[in-house]
Amino acid sequence: MRPDQESAPAIELRGLRKTFGEVEAVAGVDLEVPDGEFFSLLGPSGSGKTTLLRMIAGFELPTSGQVLLSGADVTRRPPYDRDVNTVFQDYALFPHLSVLGNVEYGLKVKGVGKKERRERAGQALESVRLTGFGDRRPGQLSGGQRQRVALARALVNRPKVLLLDEPLGALDRALRLEMQVELKQLQRDVGITFVLVTHDQDEALTMSDRVAVVRAGKIEQIAGPAELYERPSTDFVAGFVGVTNLLSGEVASTILGSADTVSIRPEKIRIGRVSDPAESGEATADGTVLETIYLGASTRYVVDLDAGGQLVAQRQNEGDPSGIDRGDRVRLRWHRTHALSSTS
Ligand code: ADP
Ligand code: MG
Repeated sequence: MRPDQESAPAIELRGLRKTFGEVEAVAGVDLEVPDGEFFSLLGPSGSGKTTLLRMIAGFELPTSGQVLLSGADVTRRPPYDRDVNTVFQDYALFPHLSVLGNVEYGLKVKGVGKKERRERAGQALESVRLTGFGDRRPGQLSGGQRQRVALARALVNRPKVLLLDEPLGALDRALRLEMQVELKQLQRDVGITFVLVTHDQDEALTMSDRVAVVRAGKIEQIAGPAELYERPSTDFVAGFVGVTNLLSGEVASTILGSADTVSIRPEKIRIGRVSDPAESGEATADGTVLETIYLGASTRYVVDLDAGGQLVAQRQNEGDPSGIDRGDRVRLRWHRTHALSSTS
């Protein structure tokens, strides 16, 4: 490695674009992902996430722009000539090969000797906690175990960068939550740069050091999970990352004294009796409960405001019943600093 490459980001994208006929799947992306980061591309279906990932991996040639890995321009290099591995949603394991055979496969193709193959495959299986499963076939494994084999198969190549396209999409919810924690731990242990594609905001926020929110082929905002949630730079980000309330126009004027659009997270809004006085620095809005939605750990209240429009408030269920039901008159209160201005 040349000295100037040591400080180069693991991934750098410059003005990256990809069109399919009329469709502009990726519409000009500039991005740097530093070495060792857990980075996520979060966006709705069809926003261009997979196309972006495939261009980093080399499966797709950009219409224009450049892909650099550790400072080297790899834009025209084929996938096998990039220090990158991809884990796909469907795992794509070989059903007729054992777990060990699957994990070893890439090394075998590269001509790595048997002894070293066994050793590295064993380490990869250990890192995904599948030691002892080497002789099984994929068909004899659970969904979560198959997912871990797919990870081991990618890790065995010791790539500098691991790309993951909706890797937990095929798992049920409980397993997905478990794997989210495991994936993050694994990434910390192996120290490889991870780029995760997902449409699931919880997944992105739970695991990532930074998240890029993708919309229509462009990156709308890049930030750490907390900043993305607390300070979304656009209404789209505010709406896509977590539930949010938007107030604008006349309703905002009546309640806040300005027609500018603001967003307020439901958990920042306190719900109480109309007789509750506002504390200093608080804004209030009175209304009628339209709907209560029980979510287990918390309850969400949809409130029809007297000023027009609706706000959603969320309250932790701490054991004491709130005593607030559909049709009740309520006062919503929030600290004015929690009403965030954003732009569309
Ligand atoms: P995402 O992964 O965010 O769901 P994709 O990158 O798969 O989005 O797709 C982005 C856009 O590009 C979509 O409109 C999709 O239909 C289009 N697209 C992706 N791949 C192709 C292709 N091979 N041929 C034509 N259109 C494509
Ligand atoms: Mg996709």
